[in-house]
Amino acid sequence: MVDSNSRQKIVVLGTGGTIAGRSALVNDNISYDAAQIDIESLTHDIQGLKSHLDGYKLDFEQVAQVDSKDMNFAIWEALARRVVQRLAEPDVRGIVVTHGTDTIEETAYFLRSVVCADKPVVLTCAMRPASALSPDGPQNLLDAFSVVMDANACGVVVVCAGVVHAAEHVQKIHPYRLDAFSSGDAGPLAWIEEGRVRWSLTQMPMYLTSRDALTLPDSGSWPQVEIVLNHVGATGKVVDSLLNAGIDGLVVACTGNGTVSDALMVSLQRAMSQGVKVVRSSRCVLGRVIPVAGALIPDSRGLSPVKARVALMLSLMD
Ligand code: ASP
Repeated sequence: MVDSNSRQKIVVLGTGGTIAGRSALVNDNISYDAAQIDIESLTHDIQGLKSHLDGYKLDFEQVAQVDSKDMNFAIWEALARRVVQRLAEPDVRGIVVTHGTDTIEETAYFLRSVVCADKPVVLTCAMRPASALSPDGPQNLLDAFSVVMDANACGVVVVCAGVVHAAEHVQKIHPYRLDAFSSGDAGPLAWIEEGRVRWSLTQMPMYLTSRDALTLPDSGSWPQVEIVLNHVGATGKVVDSLLNAGIDGLVVACTGNGTVSDALMVSLQRAMSQGVKVVRSSRCVLGRVIPVAGALIPDSRGLSPVKARVALMLSLMD
């Protein structure tokens, strides 16, 4: 049993994103280059950081340096391994991962699925580049440190704009504003106010996991799972092309409560008859597909299409 006071180190793993971005003009918050500034430099100018950390030391590692629209399985594999290895160090209190906002919810859900984190793993990000007149990254980093230092924190969470979201529920819902994330119907896990974490009474942080990051196969051989969308006039041609190209699984971002057009259904049934695993999720931003008895295609148990894809991919590794 580790004395929690002996956990004097916070590991900060950098992967890039807008939080590490730079633009030519201080008032340009859209045409910037993400992933330009190394992880250690990101904390250099944060005023009050030392007193905020209350004796905790930061230990930096640059795991990747990418715009998260280009996040990939090789980085996920490396990141998950580092998270597991660093969490196992007795003097590590927890981990902060900096990440782009575009796919942070997928990385958070992946880590939550492969890392049994009894200590906090806090992903954070920014909507404005570090060079902005008023960047949001420094405050998000301070908030992430507050969560790591909080006595009740554990598991994989996402922190942005003063809100703590569970990896299962968080979704980017806005392409521009600073408070770009929502946990939908579930609501946030907590809020960070003046460095203090106020936990929601209805949700608790968790660290359940389905796979062990250290026993995953090589990322080059992970199953291929794609997402297809039901929409007006959906024909199923995309599914047929994917079948021709070779595919292991499909997530359908269905309309409403898991509905698909008749034509798309024909192609999906063809895919299933060829051994492709298919899962239904909903393209609705809130809520989940409510199970219907006798449904031909299983539902994603409340996971959004992108997270259902991660879950299906991991299940196909068995
Ligand atoms: N495209 C950026 C990224 O995801 C956006 C951001 O970080 O806000 O890395």
